[in-house]
Amino acid sequence: MWVLGLTGGIGSGKTTVSDLFADHAIQVVDADVIARHIVDRGTPALAAVSARYGVQALQHDGTLNRTWLREKIFSEPNEKQWLNDLTHPLIREQIIQQLQAADSPYVILSAPLLVENNLTKFCDRVLLVDVSEQTQRQRTLKRDNVSAEQIEQILAVQASREERLAAADDVIDNDAAVNALAPQVAKLHQHYLELAASAATTKQHQPDQPPES
Ligand code: ADP
Repeated sequence: MWVLGLTGGIGSGKTTVSDLFADHAIQVVDADVIARHIVDRGTPALAAVSARYGVQALQHDGTLNRTWLREKIFSEPNEKQWLNDLTHPLIREQIIQQLQAADSPYVILSAPLLVENNLTKFCDRVLLVDVSEQTQRQRTLKRDNVSAEQIEQILAVQASREERLAAADDVIDNDAAVNALAPQVAKLHQHYLELAASAATTKQHQPDQPPES
């Protein structure tokens, strides 16, 4: 399966862009969605979290208290490490499963921390949704129920704009109006269809095992 990595900081427009690729019938594996489900009620990961922190990590209905946990790991780097060690292998396993199960001409792996978490190794190409930090802050504040301070904390742990640009093969500039996106996506989609098709042809002509003599 030919995999396009889609990345960009919080509020850059990844979901908006991946929805447009989905309009072209391209399947999207979303690392954020997987990360949320990995700690759903009844999962081994949530049991491990509540064993470590007790009921304070849970809401009354037994689901994860995400706000509490977010604050915990922002203030205690060791706890963040513990949580990453617990969840990252599970998230990777799910990502691989979903990528393998996809049956569109190519598949998108969307992850805000694609570069930071070395998920680029699953990708044949990386597309960055790029916006200024000012736009990121404004759109995230408008969308989410978070404080300006929390946004600064999130921005501080994400790669810088320059680091992301260095890892990207293609860039969508999303500082402009939202209706500027569809034509850019349509053009890139045609290009990716060609790349995926030619990668499949090359693979067919290069069998994994050399023929026996
Ligand atoms: P991400 O998935 O990268 O966090 P989203 O796609 O959710 O980002 O976009 C963040 C917010 O900005 C959403 O509310 C979205 O509707 C809005 N948005 C995305 N692109 C634009 C744009 N070009 N102009 C204005 N608002 C936009």
